[in-house]
Amino acid sequence: MVERTLSIIKPDCVAAKNSGKVISMLEKNGFDIVAMKKVWLTKQQAEKFYIVHKERPFYDSLTTFMSEGPIIVMVLEKENAIEDYRKLMGATNPQEASDGTIRKLFGSNIERNAVHGSDSKESADYEINFFFNELEIVKGE
Ligand code: ADP
Ligand code: MG
Repeated sequence: MVERTLSIIKPDCVAAKNSGKVISMLEKNGFDIVAMKKVWLTKQQAEKFYIVHKERPFYDSLTTFMSEGPIIVMVLEKENAIEDYRKLMGATNPQEASDGTIRKLFGSNIERNAVHGSDSKESADYEINFFFNELEIVKGE
C-alpha cells in the first residue's frame, strides 16, 4: 500500500549541513518527496507537535532542542513508507542504530539524533496535518 509519512531533519542535522546527504539517501531509497519546507518552530509549537511525550522526563529538553534552530519538514510517499523510513532512520539512540542508517551516520546522542519519522498511520496523519495543508502536497497522476 502506498503510504505517506512525516520526516523531519532536526536542528542538529540542519546546522551540521547534512540535510542534502539525508535528502539524497531518501531519494536513493525510493521515497518521493511530495511536500517540503524549512521552518523554525517556537518552543510552544514544538511542545504541541510532541504532545504525546508530555509526561516523559525528556519532554522539556526535547522541545527546547527542536526549537533551537530551523528544521526541514517533508512528506514522503512510497509503498510501506512508514515502516521503511523507520528502518532507514535507525534506532532512536544512534549508538544502537545499524550501520548505514541516517541516525548512525548523522546522530550525536539519544536526543540529538538527526531525524524524526512517524511511527504509525495515526501519527503520520496527525503530523502531516500539523505542518501541511492539502494544497501544499503534490498529487500523483
Ligand atoms: P523516535 O524518534 O525514535 O520515535 P521517541 O518517539 O521515543 O523516539 O522519542 C522522540 C524523540 O525524543 C527522539 O527522537 C529523541 O530526539 C528524544 N528522546 C527519546 N528518548 C530520549 C531520552 N531518553 N533522552 C533524551 N531524549 C530522548
Ligand atoms: Mg516517536
